[in-house]
Amino acid sequence: MVPVTISGFFGFFLVAGLIVVTGLWLFYDLRDRRLLDRKRQLRAYHCVKCGCLYGSRSVEEVSPCPACRFRNASLRF
Ligand SMILES: [Zn+2]
Repeated sequence: MVPVTISGFFGFFLVAGLIVVTGLWLFYDLRDRRLLDRKRQLRAYHCVKCGCLYGSRSVEEVSPCPACRFRNASLRF
């Protein structure tokens, strides 16, 4: 049997806990960053022809309305 000191025993769990917490922190931080980047890419449009309010992930400033296909410019806030 390997002799283990009390400080070594608690030190092992302290380091293991820090590694787990750091891993979870990095995982959720990267996940949230990806989700926020997707939400930021969503543009809002208001159709001037039929009044439909819709969103699109298009990089173009103009997007067709899903109801009447009229091309509208994105809303600016
Ligand atoms: Zn429309």
